[in-house]
Amino acid sequence: MRLEKFSEFARILDPRKKFSEVSQEIEVRVDPLTGGVSRVNLARGLRPKQEIKVEAPIQPDCPFCPQNIDRETPKFPEDFVREGRIKRGRATIFPNLYPLADLHGVCVFTDAHKLELDKFSKEELMDGFKASVDFFRMGAEMGAIFHFLGWNHLPNAGASILHPHFQLIASKMGLRAERELFEACERYWRRNERSYWSDLEEERYSERYVGENDGIMWVAPWAPLGAYEVLGFSTQGVSSLTEFGEKGIEAFSEGIVRILRGLWNLGVRAVNMAVYSFPDRREWFSLHARIMARPSGSTTDRAFLEIYGSEVGLTAPPEAYAKILRSYFKV
Ligand SMILES: [Zn+2]
Repeated sequence: MRLEKFSEFARILDPRKKFSEVSQEIEVRVDPLTGGVSRVNLARGLRPKQEIKVEAPIQPDCPFCPQNIDRETPKFPEDFVREGRIKRGRATIFPNLYPLADLHGVCVFTDAHKLELDKFSKEELMDGFKASVDFFRMGAEMGAIFHFLGWNHLPNAGASILHPHFQLIASKMGLRAERELFEACERYWRRNERSYWSDLEEERYSERYVGENDGIMWVAPWAPLGAYEVLGFSTQGVSSLTEFGEKGIEAFSEGIVRILRGLWNLGVRAVNMAVYSFPDRREWFSLHARIMARPSGSTTDRAFLEIYGSEVGLTAPPEAYAKILRSYFKV
């Protein structure tokens, strides 16, 4: 695995220094699998923030709360889900009322209306994943073999409803990012005759290693796609959520809970998560999740560079926060 980086230097006439010239170093990292580019500038951490405080809206009429969910959330057609909604333990899946795809489910996995990142339980996440597997299996029966599980936690991460919920998209083609990812993994495997994911285990001996439990390893990626991003992947060659089984889902959920707790203590309040899962077992692909922090103020972290440049501007290098998150796998 080739970890490539180079530096760029920005020359600036700094108004805080009577417009004298200063130079700022930008470390540019290239993702060894996809060629994606991340840019780290430590100085950006010192930027002044102008934020307006927005109080979280109180939603006594939340459609996802237990007293309302059966009444106020939509159902699937009977020929897709006979009972209308999928229920597993605490989790309920119903169709998104404002879908972005033909099979776009919402998975509510806790009764709590608002949970901070340090309060999620392994059991709740497990129920959510198990119900999601049911949804994806049903989708696959209809020919929608690809599964995408996304999570927007809090409005700054794109959630319109505070009540925690996963978003599930089952599709025939896969989302663009999924397709590119699968292609990159297969290409890597053909070129190197090894899976990218088995090579990634080398990160166990790096400063970016976070921890592992029961076949799921967590690292801060070399070229993060967002702030405080972490990546958790199967070290047992599991490719699909649908082949994970009870123990795999438990280990995965346990890891996520630890990561969320660590991020919370780093001051993170909002996160996005995605689970990448191939429909069936492939030598070149391992199931994995990516979790990144989103801003807690009113300033967005997606600007021209991210939206139109398809590159990422960062403040903290992965080695710095991996060191802190690592302690959450030692207890
Ligand atoms: Zn609620």
